[in-house]
Amino acid sequence: MAKGSSADIAVKLESLRQSFREKAVRDMDQLDEFLARMADRSLGAEEHRAVVKAMYHLLHRLSGSAGTFGLGALGSEARQLEQSLKPLIEPDQGTAPGTGPTPSVDDELTPEFFSRARQLRTFLEQTESASYESADDVLAEPVAARSEAAITVFLCDLPEAVGVFLEHTLTNHGFTVDRVEVSDLLNLSGEVCAGAFAVITHEASVASISSALQLLKRQYGISSPPLICTGSHNDFDSRYALAEMDADALFSEPLDVPLLAERIERLIDERSKAVPGKVLILDDDEDLARHYQLVLQEAGFEVHAISDPEKVLLVLADFRPDIMLLDVWMGNYSGVTIAKLIRFEPEWLSLPIIYLSSEKDRTIQLEALAQGGDEFMTKPVSDDYLVRAVQVRCYRARQLNQLVIRDSLTGLLKHSVIKQEIETEHARCLRMGHVSTVAMIDLDHFKQVNDRYGHRTGDHVIKALANLLRHRLRSTDLIGRYGGEEFVVVLPECTEGTAIDVLGKICNGFSEIQFATSEGEISVTLSAGVAELNAFKTANDALSAADEALYWRKTAGRDGVTAWHPQP
Ligand code: GH3
Ligand code: MG
Ligand code: MG
Repeated sequence: MAKGSSADIAVKLESLRQSFREKAVRDMDQLDEFLARMADRSLGAEEHRAVVKAMYHLLHRLSGSAGTFGLGALGSEARQLEQSLKPLIEPDQGTAPGTGPTPSVDDELTPEFFSRARQLRTFLEQTESASYESADDVLAEPVAARSEAAITVFLCDLPEAVGVFLEHTLTNHGFTVDRVEVSDLLNLSGEVCAGAFAVITHEASVASISSALQLLKRQYGISSPPLICTGSHNDFDSRYALAEMDADALFSEPLDVPLLAERIERLIDERSKAVPGKVLILDDDEDLARHYQLVLQEAGFEVHAISDPEKVLLVLADFRPDIMLLDVWMGNYSGVTIAKLIRFEPEWLSLPIIYLSSEKDRTIQLEALAQGGDEFMTKPVSDDYLVRAVQVRCYRARQLNQLVIRDSLTGLLKHSVIKQEIETEHARCLRMGHVSTVAMIDLDHFKQVNDRYGHRTGDHVIKALANLLRHRLRSTDLIGRYGGEEFVVVLPECTEGTAIDVLGKICNGFSEIQFATSEGEISVTLSAGVAELNAFKTANDALSAADEALYWRKTAGRDGVTAWHPQP
């Protein structure tokens, strides 16, 4: 779904507000009519019950939506009136907000209720925004997966030798490295600050650099960039002081660069706010659904909003959201039952479902949660709260999904996933007529590395290659850990020649990375075999060809890239 411009969205939101207000006026007319009928002494018990129920639903709906459309006072008053009707309403036996409450007793409504209900209309004039309940305590700072842009590492105030060493080694790991002074940091442009960057400094300079970063943070409204320090003070007090000055990590000398590279990646990832995710909204109040949709779209989410509960399964299968916002009261349908129905499908067992409801009773909420939802967001929901809450939940949902499809050591796609990706790209390049390449990569003499320096060192080497591949390849390339020390990359719209070139550079860069071991520093090389996907009938054939080319490379002396060619 295309994201509209801010001005465009503001206009749409205003028109929704207008339409809500007009409807609210009609609601007031309807309420007056209900009140007149209630006052009618000749009303039969059955009819009386029906009117109380209708009035309850009207007030419930207003209390949940008015705040969202800038009529907070109307919403609060409607909520209080709704609450005073509640004793007349008996919830259905044993269920959470199921088919809805039915009035049971013909209690008299108090004169106070009548007079306040008649006055409700006057709240239409009070258009100040509602005071929302703050639930900040449950919200952590939202974070999301980083878009695959290059990471800049600023080396600041480091001893000369360390600076030279890190500039060289971190460049080999695929980072853009720049050696700067504190004053240079203060002069960074907004554009650079908006990108992904980290700062490495000596422990003695942490205080001044930390304040410089705070200034940048305020100036450009960015989240704190990672600050990593090097040093030799390993005692508790020094560490405490560094943490207090907002340092994110401490690396003792001699520096373990692969570990350092990995930490920079992770810290950047945690701060990134890109890729918010996909949200499905189901609310029978079309205006409200549309409002939530516009607000979330403005914040960068991809949103699908529906008002018809019967469509939910089709839309889920088609849209595949990261999370779902589900209204609880929807005419003849209950959101709680819909959540249960969604869980019939094993595929949606882990879909986070958030109930949108004005229900405040914790007991009823808990019962509803037991039926299939994950949590409650209490209506009215402020726009800011909605965006932040959805950001956090989408991020968590995506993280969990990543755990399922990604290898835990490297964060690369798992064997089965990358195999599927090869198939997908094979079909795509045949269909579209472009050239795509697949490559098989394998570490050289890796068994010796493990045998001689231990498995831990081996793991570092594997992770370093994974990081390098991530940095050097395009975000559209797909990288998988195919087996222990074997990797597969799919390079869409890339010829064999370009692939050899790109992988050749990665090969050289990798061989220059130094790994610290008990016996001093070592380096490791890799071999790769490439094949053009579209030259083969099946994706499997192309993969076998890349594997064969890799084998040729191994026999020809390793440390390099070989392309497959038909044997004479
Ligand atoms: P070649 O150059 O011919 O590829 O030789 P090689 O030693 O790399 O090949 P071989 O397939 O004989 O050895 C691969 C080694 O990779 C064996 C295994 O111990 C190691 N390995 C596989 N997975 C992991 C892992 O997750 N961590 C570590 N540390 N080692 C692994
Ligand atoms: Mg190997
Ligand atoms: Mg191997």
